[in-house]
Amino acid sequence: MSVAFASDYPALAHAALDALERAVEWHGRVVFASSFGAEDMVILDLIAGARLPIATFTLDTGRLPQETHDLVDVARRRYDVPIEVVVPNAADVEAFVRLNGPNAFYDSKDLRVECCRIRKAAPLARALAGAGAWVTGLRREQNVTRAGVDVDEQDALHGIAKVNPLAHWSHDDVWHYLRAHDVPVNALHARGYPSVGCAPCTRAVAPGDDPRSGRWWWEAPESRECGLHRRPIAVKVAVRTEASP
Ligand code: SF4
Repeated sequence: MSVAFASDYPALAHAALDALERAVEWHGRVVFASSFGAEDMVILDLIAGARLPIATFTLDTGRLPQETHDLVDVARRRYDVPIEVVVPNAADVEAFVRLNGPNAFYDSKDLRVECCRIRKAAPLARALAGAGAWVTGLRREQNVTRAGVDVDEQDALHGIAKVNPLAHWSHDDVWHYLRAHDVPVNALHARGYPSVGCAPCTRAVAPGDDPRSGRWWWEAPESRECGLHRRPIAVKVAVRTEASP
């Protein structure tokens, strides 16, 4: 794949679309996990614009901000594509909250990771079952934990391919695309949230600060992941399809 210069926006968009089309060709059933952050809106716009057979889903943890739910509705209307909402196992959430309280994620890293496992990692594993590949909006620039991200990867955690079409995009590339294509975005971005996750675990950051520093800000930067992409969380799922190589 050719690497585009940062300012060559049409080439960047073309390369990202190429990655998505290649995923469908190579991996059969491909799904897109959208958190409705800025990067994911670029990808949704590309998928919907090209009418690619990639099913979009989002993980509704039960603690998302209202602004994210609002954007899901706006995206449904704008793109006229189904967006599956995947929720956590209710009994697991109930047991965790009963034992540890509703805000246990502030008490220790172990409890935070367990909350992410129940509300995010386990539902993700369920949503990926049967897929040959999943698409994400990961970018290298986002965090120290993501510096090695590439466009085409093998996700050993879930046993399927993982496609990150924006892996080499910069923050400016993302926002240039969003504005140029008039893509709807989460209202929280304008209030200082470069990265939007669960409401109690995300806050605004000062201009110029690390964009991920508003996520789990009370933890060390190396551990600021929810377990969807790299984790100390053991959630196993068998995911192979006939279309998988
Ligand atoms: Fe729980 Fe916070 Fe993780 Fe959301 S981000 S699943 S509220 S610990």
